[in-house]
Amino acid sequence: MIIGSHVSLSAPNYLLAAFEEAHHYQANACMIYTGAPQNTKRIDVSRLKINEAIAYGNEHDLSIEHVVIHAPYIINLANTINEQTFELGVDFLRQELKRVSQIGAKILVLHPGAHVKQGEDAGLQQIIKGLDLAMEGMDPSIHIALETMAGKGSELGYRFEQLAYIMEHCKYNAQLGICMDTCHLHDAGYDVANFDAVLNEFDDAIGMNRLCCIHVNDSKNSRGARKDRHANIGFGEIGFAALKEIVHHPALKDVIKILETPYVDGHAPYRLEIEMLKSGIFDQDLIEKIKEEK
Ligand code: FE
Ligand code: FE
Ligand code: ZN
Repeated sequence: MIIGSHVSLSAPNYLLAAFEEAHHYQANACMIYTGAPQNTKRIDVSRLKINEAIAYGNEHDLSIEHVVIHAPYIINLANTINEQTFELGVDFLRQELKRVSQIGAKILVLHPGAHVKQGEDAGLQQIIKGLDLAMEGMDPSIHIALETMAGKGSELGYRFEQLAYIMEHCKYNAQLGICMDTCHLHDAGYDVANFDAVLNEFDDAIGMNRLCCIHVNDSKNSRGARKDRHANIGFGEIGFAALKEIVHHPALKDVIKILETPYVDGHAPYRLEIEMLKSGIFDQDLIEKIKEEK
């Protein structure tokens, strides 16, 4: 099982610190932002302690190829109202692809975008335009994984058909993949408890070979709520049984799984959640135990 969680890239050791954090969670994968997810301030890649991290990873079952990078939320390629927002998104995405390549990671997760009241079709066309601009000349060993979204506000990408449409019309189609998010799928109306049916639908619309990673999260809201609020594993509306099935699913064996569940009173839940998912046995007292995590 290739599983990990979101970890932080904090000074002064950056990627090395991220790997140490991931190892503390008994993870063999992780996800990072190259800086704060809400802004575009980034330090130079040469300062990220990449070689140190790779050396540490070699000793601790953490491969740089299992590091997923998440693009910041401020990128909105679907924006047709504010030219500057769109251009900033394209420009930042182009730079982010370079950073991913320099780091040696293979997957950049991207929220497709929100159409900000201009209609879904206008938004989808703009996303395609933005991807075509940003992906020109990119490292061909990298994939941009478009994330399945909850459909909150004017978010696009909450249906497989929308993601398929973007992929089909993008010039760099071969460089595009998908990151499924179980909370988002559930909030968008998919029945995550019946995951084989979801995978069949996904395979028909997009193709299983396009699945790059899965964000494994429970959801605080009911199916179809289009809210996007993550819950701890087994403590939301999806429930432990369904999430356990997904992480142990034979068809998803080689797909990187990343937890983005909430901290509990300032304590990271990941070590215990990963352990619980691996064991397949639900722990009723998990939340109380998380509060004792270091
Ligand atoms: Fe995301
Ligand atoms: Fe996610
Ligand atoms: Zn989310």
